[in-house]
Parts: sequence; C-alpha cells; structure tokens
Amino acid sequence: MKKLLLLLLGILFTGSLSAQTTYLHAGNILDVRSGKMLKQKTIIINGKTIEKISDGFITPPDSVEVVDLRNLTLLPGLTDMHVHLENESNPQAYLHAFTFNDADNAFNSVGFAKKTLLAGFTSVRDLGGTGVNISLRDAINQGKIDGPRIFTSGKSLATTGGHADPTNGRSKALMGDPGPKEGVVNNEDDAAKAVRQRYKNGADLIKITATGGVLSVAKSSSNPQFTLEEIRAITKTAADYGFHVAAHAHGDEGMQRAIKGGVKTIEHGTLMSDETMELMKEYDTYLVPTITAGKEVSLNAEIEDYYPAMVVSKAIEIGPKIQGTFGKAYKKGVGIAFGTDAGVFKHGENAREFGYMVEAGMPPLEAIQSATLTPAKILHLEDQMGQVATGFDANIIAVAGDPLQNIKTLEEVKFVMKEGKIYKNEK
Ligand SMILES: [Zn+2]
Repeated sequence: MKKLLLLLLGILFTGSLSAQTTYLHAGNILDVRSGKMLKQKTIIINGKTIEKISDGFITPPDSVEVVDLRNLTLLPGLTDMHVHLENESNPQAYLHAFTFNDADNAFNSVGFAKKTLLAGFTSVRDLGGTGVNISLRDAINQGKIDGPRIFTSGKSLATTGGHADPTNGRSKALMGDPGPKEGVVNNEDDAAKAVRQRYKNGADLIKITATGGVLSVAKSSSNPQFTLEEIRAITKTAADYGFHVAAHAHGDEGMQRAIKGGVKTIEHGTLMSDETMELMKEYDTYLVPTITAGKEVSLNAEIEDYYPAMVVSKAIEIGPKIQGTFGKAYKKGVGIAFGTDAGVFKHGENAREFGYMVEAGMPPLEAIQSATLTPAKILHLEDQMGQVATGFDANIIAVAGDPLQNIKTLEEVKFVMKEGKIYKNEK
C-alpha cells in the first residue's frame, strides 16, 4: 500500500515537472467563430493546453520560453478530414500493390505524416489504407515520430469488386475471395462483422466505398455498390462502438443510400443532384469535397502510362466536376467539412484546397471554419480542438498576412504547435 502511494506520488511529481510552459506573443489571432482579429495577445500554454490568453505582450518568468510571433497571424491548427498517409500518387503505385510489404508503407508514411503536420494540419482523418495507418497513429501519439493527430478508419469497407476491394484488377490466381476481415462485405452479417473487426484492429471510425471510384481497376466510377440494408447494418454496428461512418461516393444513387443509411460524411460527392443536396441538409450529412484530388487526377490522366487505361477515362470524367458540385452544394446550404484526399496528390500540399474552395464561392472565413470548427463538431471534440481559446488543446499555427484577405497565405505556414510542442518556427 505504501509502495503504491509512493509510486503514485512519483507519477504526479514527474508529471508536474514535464508540463512545460510556453508564452506566445501573438500579433494577431483569428477568432474563427466571429472572424474578428484579436490584436497583441499573449497565449500561455501549459503542457498540452492553452491555459490563458492575456492582453498585451507579457514578459514571462525567467525559466519560461517566449516565442515572438508579433508579425504573424495565429489561427487554430487545421484538420484535413480526408487523407491517406500510407501512400502518395506516382506511376508505380499500382505495381506497389504487388511489391510492397506493410513495412514499406510504414516507412513511407513517416515522411508523409511529418509533411502534413509541418503544413499546418495538426489533425487528420485517415480514410483507408492497409491498416498501417493504425500503427502510425499510435507511433505519433507515443511521440516516436512527428505527425498530426490521426483519426483512422483502418482498412475501408467495400463489396466484392467494389472500389476498396483489395484484389480488384488482379489475375484470378491472385484474386482469392476477401471477406469481412479484409474489409469486403456482401450482406448485413458481413457488414456487422467487418465493423467489429475494425474495432478489434483499433480503428477510430468506419469508411465505406458507397459507389465506384476513380483509381480502382474496375469499370464504373459511380455505380451504387452497397444496398441500403448493408449500409444501415454498418452504421448501426458502428454506433455501438462510438464510430461515425464516412462514405466515398461519386454517383447519386449510392450517395442517397449512404445518406439515408446514416453516414456522417459524403466524400467527393461528385455527381450529387439537387434532390440529394436537400437530403444532405435533412440528415445533417456533411460534404467533404476533395477538389484538389479531382484536379490532380485529371492532370495525371494526361500523362502517358501514369494510370492504367481503365482509370484514365474515369479520371477525365470525374476529376474536373468536383469543384463545380462543391460550389453548388455550398450555395444550397449543405454542410462542408474540409478534406483533400492527400495521397492522391502530394502530402503537405493540403492547403491548396482552400484556394479552390474560395474560387468556387465560399468566403475565406467559412473555408477556415470548415477545417477547424466543423471537424471538431463531427469528431465530437468541439470543446477540445478547432479554436485558439482557453482550455483547448494547444494546436496553433501562424501565417504572414491575413488569410481572410489572401487565403493562399495558408499554403505557407510559418509556425506549427501541436499539443503544446513546437514543430516549426520560421521567421
Ligand atoms: Zn480517398
């Protein structure tokens, strides 16, 4: 008993020693709720948390680090709701499905995660890979490597031959018959089992491929690939484990089934009809646009042999339409959550999406809110992330200039703090 007490005291004591205090002298802080610019503040960070925000530039006690950000604009760390940290587009990517081991993906993901964090994205949703993304999340949380806070789906769920069937396009000898364990489901029982398997694997949420997709070696980019009953079985089981469900969808019918089936976010949403936009509002479903990926796949499709022939025609058909659909959905009042599909293009270029959103008619403040307040709401962390405010996680970035006047300043982030630790500080 005495030993236990001593151990507890020891933990408390070392805990208090390691909680570092930092003062940030902030020239401007963007209040993402109101759009107001707060001038000349001192942000006091204790451990992982913003302890206090005071007026003026306060001189700290001797031993405390003070960071001069008087010439910069501070805002909350950004969240990208759709990335794939295990890989990055290149002409050999399809070959890698046959030649890479998990370890290869794991080593690559270390660099991709760091680039993402240094670009100002302190949190991401990783929407599908082999499951390496779960170990990546844990390694980052344990402080072994640098990266954003990851909320991961592990391996995406598909139906046989669907967009995330891992053996699409292979010879019969290599095709096998993947099942719920591998993320392939074909009835309601399979669906429940696949969700439970993701829980067992350590996922944070569920991703499904509700329609065909562009980059899979399969014919349709947009046909529905789950029944409404299968989707309902997935969302119902997911709820038992506290998971929300994200649905990849280009085609309208599959999108409608996903929304009615209870998914929280529609990824891409390319061929969304007016009727479906109304349905999104009715069901409080968010659109995650991924405009950057759409632009990138249509460019890559022009390069000879970059993609397999079956992918080229789909990329040209789907890619250029995403930005237009986003603009229309925004104007109709559909909820928007920032997401890029980074991995389909270069990691670290996530902030390009802001420019495309503004170009399509979304005001800069709302684009920033879609990457701060909205993700926090979807992840049920609205008291913890998405704001520079007392009691919140100390996820803070800084840019030169005013992002409300020039959204592209977000493409050149000068300062990155995640959970109280400074990862970038460029003058
Ligand atoms: Zn994706």
